[in-house]
Amino acid sequence: MNNFIQPYQFVSIKAHSEQLLNVYKSVNDFKTIETFQAITYDHISQLFNEKHSEIEDFTNIIMHQKIKRAQVEKLILGLRSYVEPFNQPSSKQLEKIFKKTKKLKQPDWENIDLKTTSYVGWNDSGKQKKFIIAYEQDKLVGVVGELSPTIKPGICSVCKKESNVSMFLSTTKSKGDGTYTKNGNYICHDSKHCNQQLDQLDGLYEFIQSVKMK
Ligand SMILES: [Zn+2]
Repeated sequence: MNNFIQPYQFVSIKAHSEQLLNVYKSVNDFKTIETFQAITYDHISQLFNEKHSEIEDFTNIIMHQKIKRAQVEKLILGLRSYVEPFNQPSSKQLEKIFKKTKKLKQPDWENIDLKTTSYVGWNDSGKQKKFIIAYEQDKLVGVVGELSPTIKPGICSVCKKESNVSMFLSTTKSKGDGTYTKNGNYICHDSKHCNQQLDQLDGLYEFIQSVKMK
């Protein structure tokens, strides 16, 4: 088992070690530091169902209060080599998934870090649409919706973090008589940013379920 770390787990490990380093830097109270260490240790361990010596070594090392930031960054880079990258589909596969869209805009793959990518979302500002793809039990799924050009601060339904969000409106049911059911969610306008703070997958899959064509 080589690539045993999922992108969201990697994002979560990075965020939690960063928080811990900030506590080391800014907190003097021993008890507070100890509490934060325990929280970080538990959180990172609980990300995985099985024990991995690479993860155990990492969590043990960052429990040293005197550790240098550069050292942690180097360790994180080491863990990155175990991350399973997002499996990039071909343009043909994407065209098949979004077959109702003419002249489908393709994602800007060159600027997407597949190792911090749990889903791929890209905007077609001309069409005012956002396209989203993800894997559900290894099966590639796609959803598309109208994306409002208005960006405001709020909580994203996908990453569940505070962010710059926009309304994503999708048609979930179209009846024979020409009426539609629509479903709206506020999500990160910038999906790349969303992925960089996406540290659990519940929100992503709930979102995909709620906006899918029924
Ligand atoms: Zn988000």
